[in-house]
Amino acid sequence: MTLTFTATVLGSPRIGPNRELKKAVESYWAGSLNAAGLDSVAKDLRRQAWTGLCEAGLDSVPVNTFSYYDHILDTAAMLGALPARVAGIEDELDRYFTAARGNDTVSPLEMTKWFDTNYHYLVPEISPSTTFSLDPSKVLRELEEALSLGIPARPVVVGPVTFLLLSKSVGSDAPLLDRLDEIVPLYADLLTILADAGAEWVQIDEPALVADRTAEQIAAVKRAYDQLSAVESRPAILVASYFGSLGDALPPLVSTGIEGLSVDLVDGSDSLASVPGLKRKHVVAGIVDGRNIWRTDLDRASAALETLLGNVGSLAVSTSCSLLHVPYTLDAETGLDEALRSWLAFGAEKVREVVVLGTVLTSGGESVADEFALARATASTRNTDPRLHDAGVRARLETLTASDPGRSPAAERRKAQSGLALPLLPTTTLGSYPQTTRIRLARAALRRGEIDETEYLNRMRAEISDVVALQEKLDLDVLVHGEPERNDMVQYFAEQLDGFVATTNGWVQSYGSRCVRPPILYGDVRRPKPMTIEWITYAQSLTRRPVKGMLTGPVTILAWSFVRDDQPLADSANQVALAIRDETVDLQRAGIRIIQVDEPALRELLPLRAADQSAYLNWSVGAFRLATSGVADSTQIHTHLCYSEFGDVIEAIANLDADVTSIEAARSHMEVLGDLNAVGFDLGVGPGVYDIHSPRVPGVDEIAGLLSEALNAIPAERLWVNPDCGLKTRSQSEVEASLRNLVEAAKLVRAKLQK
Ligand code: GLN
Ligand code: ZN
Repeated sequence: MTLTFTATVLGSPRIGPNRELKKAVESYWAGSLNAAGLDSVAKDLRRQAWTGLCEAGLDSVPVNTFSYYDHILDTAAMLGALPARVAGIEDELDRYFTAARGNDTVSPLEMTKWFDTNYHYLVPEISPSTTFSLDPSKVLRELEEALSLGIPARPVVVGPVTFLLLSKSVGSDAPLLDRLDEIVPLYADLLTILADAGAEWVQIDEPALVADRTAEQIAAVKRAYDQLSAVESRPAILVASYFGSLGDALPPLVSTGIEGLSVDLVDGSDSLASVPGLKRKHVVAGIVDGRNIWRTDLDRASAALETLLGNVGSLAVSTSCSLLHVPYTLDAETGLDEALRSWLAFGAEKVREVVVLGTVLTSGGESVADEFALARATASTRNTDPRLHDAGVRARLETLTASDPGRSPAAERRKAQSGLALPLLPTTTLGSYPQTTRIRLARAALRRGEIDETEYLNRMRAEISDVVALQEKLDLDVLVHGEPERNDMVQYFAEQLDGFVATTNGWVQSYGSRCVRPPILYGDVRRPKPMTIEWITYAQSLTRRPVKGMLTGPVTILAWSFVRDDQPLADSANQVALAIRDETVDLQRAGIRIIQVDEPALRELLPLRAADQSAYLNWSVGAFRLATSGVADSTQIHTHLCYSEFGDVIEAIANLDADVTSIEAARSHMEVLGDLNAVGFDLGVGPGVYDIHSPRVPGVDEIAGLLSEALNAIPAERLWVNPDCGLKTRSQSEVEASLRNLVEAAKLVRAKLQK
């Protein structure tokens, strides 16, 4: 039997405890740090991460989970599958970053969600002319670095099946999995290379197996791992699954010659009790939650491990997935109250939990009894903390969900809203305007106490007044206040709601060098006072045109937070919805006639398995409707959706029943309208007419063309004209030029319609 191990994690964060990698990479892009400088920052971070894990007591340490930008992009580079349009770029690092970010002439790879997490990966493009070839240099270098430091290193690579399933096929309709036979031999070569370099184990990540897979796909998995395990000279293979259950893929995978398998015991529910062959495998039990931030119930975890022991060949303790998705350590969090802090475990604390559980497996619980006792004690303070149960909120919710009649039918609402007196094809934007340096400086100055609240308020009001004046000048029909006061559309609300706490240093990589600090939802949600009224009414006081109230919806607030694990997400969603509902009612009372409730993350939380999807869509749509049904028919509700393909949730979008839905569409050329028609959607819709993710200014003809295309699908009475997302990342001049063209295009098409 191969040498086994008992305590590990599936991967670790890489951006640096103080975001060192972010800073270095951005300096490199800006030209103020050279490649050697970047390399040395990276090397230091890797050494720190590995030695930290080793010293904490892990006896197998993942390597090659480091990345300059993204691990799927790294995999594409490893397999010679970067897109042809960057092939001409001589410098390897520039080629890599150009594939990720594009430049003036080269468009970047598309970016999309990493399963149902908040991480985004780059989608490799595979065409019939892609010739795969192996470049093992990155993984090899990191393995050698680690071994030279005496680290029990386990190189990690993304597996062939997951790589192909996550890639995008260009120029061919054949399923990409047909290309498996081209890349499995490259993985086979890689195995031998890694063995020669001294790897005892290799971890091959196949998270794609936790989503629904066809029998054919599962057969392909089996074939691939039969072939790989037949390689003569190779390390022991650990196939890693995470983010859910393996389901039907489990028995075939176990029937191959791989030595180890990791299973997600947090989000997954595979029964390991009678899987033939599992007794000959090394099972890595992902029992410490790798993507949420709560302390593990050690008693329960060790009982579960105990039961598993009888079902498997040998057992190791691990996190349920890579620690990429949680902040580095609680040590950096000084502002949290003691009770709350004691309930949490970030990256370093989770590693300790793994080690503690591993210790129980190997040598019994005596030496770690104190830690079990502490876990028990904190669990009981958490269960009894009054902040977790607000009887008032719960009672209100119960009454409301039992008796809320919801809104009147759409046609009646349309009539009630005719007082808005909007023109045909009304033009609008989706909330934010450029977050200028001036705005960021003001926020920082307030935080540091250099300016007081009044000064801050005045500065933000000045921004709002500029944005309103600009929109009037451009002749937009429905205005926004520009969101200068918001750092982030979720954190802004979380900071004002009871039940949430913001971290000061809890950074998590979102994509590339971009990091976010998800708030923590720990208790019942209550809105102590209005959150947006002052800003919106100020904006409205400056103009006769309608200004939209701008709120974030319950699903998105949850999707971009760490959520409580002691009640169903649906219950948390309804509590947030109640707070948003109160805000809509206050906005209406203050004279605001249009309210937009953004739900860009609606698609993101969609469960990976079809069987779980309808329950999710039910509660998420329900929460949105709860949030938006407290207002009169005469108040127009808008929603905004972006960041994804909407095919899977198109019915849910219709069920949101918002009077107007603005939706990302510029890149998919209005296809979404046909999809909406197919489900009988007959409300207002603003398919984005240009892509705000790019600095490009769209021309009048181009926008008018898209509008005409849209008019082929829907009647003019329902069509709105807007960009496809908020404008905060764009420059002032791009925004002005683009919106000028947008308004002109709308007028042009409007004139034609009225002829
Ligand atoms: N109202 C937000 C904004 O304009 C919406 C952002 C988003 O959809 N991600 O910035
Ligand atoms: Zn958006």
